[in-house]
Amino acid sequence: MSNAAARGDLRGKVWPWLAAAAVGVASAVLLRLEGRLWFCACGRLLPWVGDAWSADTSQHLFDPYSFTHVLHGFAFAGLLALLLPRAGWRWRLLLAVLAEAAWEVIENTDFVINRYREATAALGYNGDTVVNSLGDIAACALGFLLARRLGWLRTLLLFVAVEAVLLLWIRDSLLLNILLLVYPSERLRAWQAGH
Ligand SMILES: [Zn+2]
Repeated sequence: MSNAAARGDLRGKVWPWLAAAAVGVASAVLLRLEGRLWFCACGRLLPWVGDAWSADTSQHLFDPYSFTHVLHGFAFAGLLALLLPRAGWRWRLLLAVLAEAAWEVIENTDFVINRYREATAALGYNGDTVVNSLGDIAACALGFLLARRLGWLRTLLLFVAVEAVLLLWIRDSLLLNILLLVYPSERLRAWQAGH
């Protein structure tokens, strides 16, 4: 391989990953500056919390909501493939990671946390931990990579299956969340609270 080709290869293959790692580090710094805790105030660091209604949700690395972030990855993979078909997939992955990280940083500003607290009366909720946000970003990246492997049809089928499992399991899902955002329904909220 010539030097120029090697350099081109490096640009396309290595830089997106390095940049994605830098985005992860930068989002951790920003989340800390926003006042978020590194990990759960309970003092433990669990890899997985299975109870969606426990105070540990969004405080440890992964929990049922992580699957909604995998679905974000599915959506980004599809959307970016349509919008930027000629960009290398690693650059599209970087864009997905960047968008997800930006969302985590915005979602965890005091402004949004307080709005969320007013809207849902989720008392005691003090934002996600940095560890949880990094887990969410990783879940999104994983979803992107999975979608690339599976292709359109199987990704779409898996998207629907994950949505269905989440609705049965935690009475919440990505699409339900979006629906409630644009069309707040008391009946749906009551159903969610009636677990
Ligand atoms: Zn905890």
